[in-house]
Amino acid sequence: MHIGAHVSAAGGLPKAVGRAVDIGAEAMQIFASSPRAWRFKAPEDALVEKFKEESEAAGMGPTVFHGIYLCALGSQDQALVERSVESLTNHMQTAERAGALGVIFHPASHRGAGFEAVLDQFVDGVKRVLDAAPGDALLMMENSAGAGDHIGSKFSELGAIIKEVGSERLHVCLDTQHAWAAGYELNKAEKLDEMLAEFDREIGLERLSAMHANDSMRPLGSAVDRHDNIGVGEIGVAGFELMMSRPALANVPMYLEVPGFEKGGPDAKNVSILKKAREEAGAVR
Ligand SMILES: [Zn+2]
Ligand SMILES: [Zn+2]
Repeated sequence: MHIGAHVSAAGGLPKAVGRAVDIGAEAMQIFASSPRAWRFKAPEDALVEKFKEESEAAGMGPTVFHGIYLCALGSQDQALVERSVESLTNHMQTAERAGALGVIFHPASHRGAGFEAVLDQFVDGVKRVLDAAPGDALLMMENSAGAGDHIGSKFSELGAIIKEVGSERLHVCLDTQHAWAAGYELNKAEKLDEMLAEFDREIGLERLSAMHANDSMRPLGSAVDRHDNIGVGEIGVAGFELMMSRPALANVPMYLEVPGFEKGGPDAKNVSILKKAREEAGAVR
């Protein structure tokens, strides 16, 4: 299990590698463009090549890209759906060029229409993205904390989308904080194993390709998306040790998206806490 972190790619993709190395990360998640804007500029070939070379030299990987926060394939605003498809396609094409594992995105909201009502259009949007971005890069839906009308706090919803899309390239990223907020008590052995069994039943564990490692500022089942530093929140270090001890998760890379002890985002301290947890769990790198 590689321990990764979200790092800034400001100044160009290759810059992200050094930032990940500096905090001891073994893998990284990056934004390919500002997560709060639609504007997208594909990176130049030279930068992509440099990024790949430097990642390889540092033994860094797998890399994942995180899609922008504005995407909403379940929206009733058709223009918004079109922009979402275009944005995800751009990210997937970039991930493919960069040799990344794939792109993680939030299924976002059904805006009150209900999951069933937007399922078909969501599926259609995902299919269009995958068709427009051929290759090996995976498209990974992230489970949500369950606030408001957000899709994907239940594995059954993600599983329904995957079944309808019918592609080998549609996978899932499990965010530990979102799962906790959605009511999955993953720091108790029995509950964690129940959660993994449910994931396997509804989605298939072979489609669990990344995790976001975040502790939680809010209580179990709160439906609130608030990440905390590892060991400071409600899940606790023991919860991460437990997860790392499970064979089903042994090869799933983890990416920190924590506030940081100095409030500067994922840092060396969070990485080292996870590395220690991995040792305690007896998991192999
Ligand atoms: Zn996340
Ligand atoms: Zn979150």
